[in-house]
Amino acid sequence: MSVRLTRYVLYCFGAIALASTVSAQSRFTTIVIDAGHGGFDQGGIPGQRVLEKNMTLDVALKLKPILEKAGYKVIMTRSTDVFVPLGTRVAIANSYPNAIFVCIHFNSASRSGASGIETYFYSTESAPLAASIHSAVVGGAPSENRGVRRRGYFVLRRTTVPAVLVECGFLTNPGEAQYALTNSYRQKLAQEIARGIVNRPALAARTAYTNRSSQVDVGLQPFLDQRFVHESKARHHRRHTTSKRKKATSTEKKSSSTEKKEVSSEAQ
Ligand SMILES: [Zn+2]
Repeated sequence: MSVRLTRYVLYCFGAIALASTVSAQSRFTTIVIDAGHGGFDQGGIPGQRVLEKNMTLDVALKLKPILEKAGYKVIMTRSTDVFVPLGTRVAIANSYPNAIFVCIHFNSASRSGASGIETYFYSTESAPLAASIHSAVVGGAPSENRGVRRRGYFVLRRTTVPAVLVECGFLTNPGEAQYALTNSYRQKLAQEIARGIVNRPALAARTAYTNRSSQVDVGLQPFLDQRFVHESKARHHRRHTTSKRKKATSTEKKSSSTEKKEVSSEAQ
């Protein structure tokens, strides 16, 4: 093969590779923003002073125009203080094949010292998105980095599009609650989540992201503690995860002991 022909072939392969990366990136033209909880489902734990449902909604409403400005079509699972069942949230996300689903939550724990930001994903395809959003949010927040985790939350497991759930700090921690109550901090959270979405790596390149990634702990995290699970969430949880949880709990009992004290109240 002549040098010129070799160059031409390499050029073609390069162009095809680039095109596939671009199409993989441009495939996700819609962002479905899911503000956690709403209506009678306040989120968090009983007696919590800063209501999670209000914080999640405000960050979601702030995130919307940032993403629209970046060129995305944005769909909200809720934009007011209403209860939306988890199944409906998932159905909304799944009705947009070109969507990325981003769930916004805040954490809570019985131990007020529990703090930090953590990000969850379930499907392997969602791992790089979770890592990208997490590093952006952690980079812009004064909170501890609790890492990227894999867990079978209903909204992550049932979605057919890349899906991530961000826990933007503990509202039961006095310091983090104070931050969350600040308008400029919620704006910052929205900006960082948007940055993580926009700067994500190519999500379709599944083979490029292995379970050995140092940034992503992909071991399935069992649901550790149901004491603070909201009644409505507990119902969803039992219906869809009982068998899986039993299995996960028996195999991961050892690793759960250290974390049991400050486990999230989330069950979705
Ligand atoms: Zn929540």
